[in-house]
Amino acid sequence: MDENPLQIAQKQLEECAQIMNLDEGLVEYLKEPDRVMRVKVPVRMDDGDIKVFIGYRAQHCGVRGPYKGGIRYHPEVTMEETIALAMWMTWKCAVVDIPYGGGKGGIACNPKEMSRREIERLTRRYTTAILPIISPDQDIPAPDVYTNPEVMSWVMDTYSIFKGYSVPGIVTGKPVELGGSRGRISSTGRGVAIVAREAATRLGMRLSDARVVVQGFGNVGYHAAKILSEWGARIIAVSDSRGGIYQESGLNVEKVRDHKLETGSVLGFDGAREVSNEELLELECDILIPAALGGVITKKNADRINARIIAEGANGPTTPEADRIMDEKCELVIPDILANSGGVIVSYFEWVQDLNRYFWDEERVNAELEKIMIRSFNEVLKVKRELGKDATWRNAALSLALKRVVKAFELRGLWP
Ligand code: NAD
Repeated sequence: MDENPLQIAQKQLEECAQIMNLDEGLVEYLKEPDRVMRVKVPVRMDDGDIKVFIGYRAQHCGVRGPYKGGIRYHPEVTMEETIALAMWMTWKCAVVDIPYGGGKGGIACNPKEMSRREIERLTRRYTTAILPIISPDQDIPAPDVYTNPEVMSWVMDTYSIFKGYSVPGIVTGKPVELGGSRGRISSTGRGVAIVAREAATRLGMRLSDARVVVQGFGNVGYHAAKILSEWGARIIAVSDSRGGIYQESGLNVEKVRDHKLETGSVLGFDGAREVSNEELLELECDILIPAALGGVITKKNADRINARIIAEGANGPTTPEADRIMDEKCELVIPDILANSGGVIVSYFEWVQDLNRYFWDEERVNAELEKIMIRSFNEVLKVKRELGKDATWRNAALSLALKRVVKAFELRGLWP
């Protein structure tokens, strides 16, 4: 049977802890979340019936600061998955050194079958249920799968109603009009593009010579492709859930975007050959960006991946068994906790702006994001060099994150 996300997250932690010679008790401490709240979310549906949903908020490790992480609405949300995602958020925030611990929330529901008003009532009731454990100092939610800026507005409004005054810093990923940050929407894709560019430079590759393949032409994939092509790279293939398109001379990313907006898919784009999502991953290229789903690079296809650099835009695109193979096949692997951290970094900027009631222009947001991405990329590179061949790129990023979490734990000490 496949391992569940929590088992995978705990295994990654154990493997890395072994490389670092971490104390066993400390590993046990980090395997468990600080707190998990399971809540009943009753909703009056549009037809008058009451439907009860189950929601969670997991807070993994708060030694470095308030918990931070998205809220997911999906039929397959479970407590284990929510805890695993919170744990990954702890590492993601630590690897880029922003002062947060990992959190995550979710409700097992199918938003595709619910009306906008039902989703609003669901969101407001869930926010009320987790109210005792969230605040701008304690736990700051954000959007995740099937939640968006509108949902964040409802979270912010509900929390503010209970407080009696507006609290923009309670969530990030809000509309700019309510205290959201400029540059937030493109931030994850921009971060992916920045680290991919840095990796290319390290390998002595000119971006103008780089051929890029992107799986998933959504928020992350589109912005990464757009920014890399603006920097001179050739985007030779992109895909969505229906399949991919390939053009050796390079796709016009904006035109592909227009085509997708018009027709609902990248398929049928003029002058491009169609490829399946499986074929797309195996295309010969310089930079491969999986930016759709988790678990797409497995031990079955890892051997056939033909890229010099992988920048993991999606969360968990590579299964643990494929990790080692990818490390041997590719010259540089930028693991998800580093590659797709641009979103949480700009979320951090949003929170800082909300707390200060002073808002930055997009230029400043992008410049500060770039600084953190480059610094973190170089730090992971350094750790990878120190650890040598035995450690994968994922081990290197995770051990940098773990070192920071453990340091904070040691400095604070164990109470009582
Ligand atoms: P999105 O919904 O905007 O886009 C997802 C894209 O993937 C869509 O184009 C969809 O058609 C495509 N897709 C779906 N199934 C596919 C399949 N089987 N094969 C190929 N393509 C497929 O989502 P997003 O926000 O761009 O997120 C993409 C990934 O990045 C997810 O793994 C997400 O967890 C991760 N991520 C996103 C952010 C963020 O800020 N948006 C931050 C960190 C990580």
